[in-house]
Amino acid sequence: MLASAQSSLSIVMVASEAVPFAKTGGLADVTSALAKALGRLGHTVTLVIPKYRGTAATGGAGSRATVAMAERRFDLGFVEHSIGPGAAVVLVECDELYDRDGLYASEGRDHPDNAIRFAMLARAALEYSSRLDRRPDVFHAHDWQAGLVPAYARTHYARTLGTVPTMFTIHNIAYQGVFPESVLEQLDLDRSLFTVDGLEFWDQVSFLKAGINLGDLVTTVSEAYARELLTPEMGFGFDGVLRARRDRLRGILNGVDTEVWDPMRDPYLPETFSADDLEGKRRLKRHLLEHFGLPTDPAVLSRPVVGVISRLVYQKGFDLVADAMEELLDLDASYVVLGTGDAQYEEMWRAAAVTHPTTIGAHIGYSEFLAHLIEAGSDIFLMPSRYEPCGLNQMYSMRYGTVPVVRATGGLDDAVVQYDDASARGSGFKFREFTSEAMVAALRRAVNVYRDARRWRAIQVEGMTRDFSWTASADAYVREYRALIASQSDAAGD
Ligand code: ADP
Repeated sequence: MLASAQSSLSIVMVASEAVPFAKTGGLADVTSALAKALGRLGHTVTLVIPKYRGTAATGGAGSRATVAMAERRFDLGFVEHSIGPGAAVVLVECDELYDRDGLYASEGRDHPDNAIRFAMLARAALEYSSRLDRRPDVFHAHDWQAGLVPAYARTHYARTLGTVPTMFTIHNIAYQGVFPESVLEQLDLDRSLFTVDGLEFWDQVSFLKAGINLGDLVTTVSEAYARELLTPEMGFGFDGVLRARRDRLRGILNGVDTEVWDPMRDPYLPETFSADDLEGKRRLKRHLLEHFGLPTDPAVLSRPVVGVISRLVYQKGFDLVADAMEELLDLDASYVVLGTGDAQYEEMWRAAAVTHPTTIGAHIGYSEFLAHLIEAGSDIFLMPSRYEPCGLNQMYSMRYGTVPVVRATGGLDDAVVQYDDASARGSGFKFREFTSEAMVAALRRAVNVYRDARRWRAIQVEGMTRDFSWTASADAYVREYRALIASQSDAAGD
C-alpha cells in the first residue's frame, strides 16, 4: 500500500542508543525525541535498539525469533515499550551479543565482535519489521551501528519486505564502523557489495559507508555540518564519498526534548523559572555553587558561573582550555564542570579544581541530575568544540537562560546567533578560529556584557523564547520521508 500525501506513515528507526534505555551521548536524546515528535504528528514509529546489560526492560514477554547469520544462529527477543503516543522502543534481547560491560567497548577496548553485534541489530530490526501487521513505509537508520540496514533490506529482506526506502542519518562522521574484509563472510554479505560504491573503504568494510552509499537519502544534524562534511578538513576521509552523493545529502537541525528540558517543569530541580521570572534561576546558581563546594559570598554570586557538560574527548576542544587556563582564571568568573572521557582531559579538570578550589568545581563522572543543575544554575555555557555536528547543550543552555559561548562550527554555528552590541540582539557569543586566544576573547566579551544586567537579560530572553522544539525538525524529516516514498513509487512505475 502506498502512502498518500497526508497519510500517516509507519517508520522503523534503528539506532544503538535511545533515552531512557541506553545513552552515551546526544544520539540517545535525538533518536528518542525524534520518535516521540513523529508520533505526536500522527505517525507510527518503532525505534529498535539493543538491550544492553543494565537496560531496564519491563515491557513484558515480547516475541522471539531465530536469525541465522553465516554459520551461527542467534536467538532474539523483542521487548516493546511505549515512549509516547504512536512511538515505541523495541529492545532487542540477545545476551551473547549485548549483555556485557560498555555499549561499544570495555576498559577502553572496542568489543572484538562489534561488526557482528551491530550487523545483528540491523537484521533484528528487519526481522521484527517483517512481522509487523503493517509493512513499514520507510526505514531510518542512525550512525554506523545501523549502517547495514539498507544493505540487508535490499538483499536478505527484499523478498519479505519489498522495496522500502531507507534514510541514513550521520550524527558524527568520526565514528565509521571499520572492520577487516574478512567480516563479510561472517555477516553473510555478498562480495558484490565490496566495491567503492558499496561498503569498501580502503580495503576494509565500513558500516558508515554502507549507510551512506546504500541508503536512499543521507541526512546529518545541521546544515552547517552538511556543508562541512564535504571538506577534507571535516570529512574524516568521507568528504569524497559524500561529495559523490551530494545531491542526496541534507542537513536537518536537531531539536530539544522539551519534556525533559524545560526550566518551568524540570523534575531534577528544586526550583523552576521562566523567561518572565528568573528568580528561581538566581537561587539555583547559589545551589550549584554550594553543590560544587565553591564559595557563595556576594562577590562570587555577582560574577558569572561558566558551566561545562561534555564528553571529555578530542572533539570537544578542551585543549584550548588547557592552553588558556591562566587567562580563564584571570576572568571574573567561576567554573563548574561535569564530564567523563579521555584521561588527559579528566586529569586537567580534576587538577584545576584541586589547585583553584574557590574558582573551579569539577565532577568527573556522568550525572543527569548535575547536567540539569548546571544548565539551570550557570550564567554562561562553554562549548569550544573542534567540530560539532549539532550539539545539544547549547540549545538546552538557551532554554535555561544560560548564555552559550561556542566555537562557530556545525550545529553550534547554526543554533547560536552572535550577540551584536549595536543592535543589542543575539543569543550567545561565537568564535570562529580554533585558538585559545579566540576562545578567551569570546568568553571575555560575555563576562563583560554580563555586568550590564539589562543587556544580559535581553540575551537570555532571546534564547529562552526561541523555538528549539522537535516539531519543526520532525516536519522536515516527514517531508523527506514522503519525497523518498514518492520517488520510490515513481521508480517502480506505480
Ligand atoms: P555528543 O553527542 O557529541 O556527546 P551532544 O551535545 O550532542 O554531544 O550531546 C551530549 C549529551 O550528553 C547532552 O544531553 C549532555 O547533557 C549529555 N552529557 C554529556 N556528558 C555528560 C555527563 N558527564 N553527565 C550527564 N550528561 C552528559
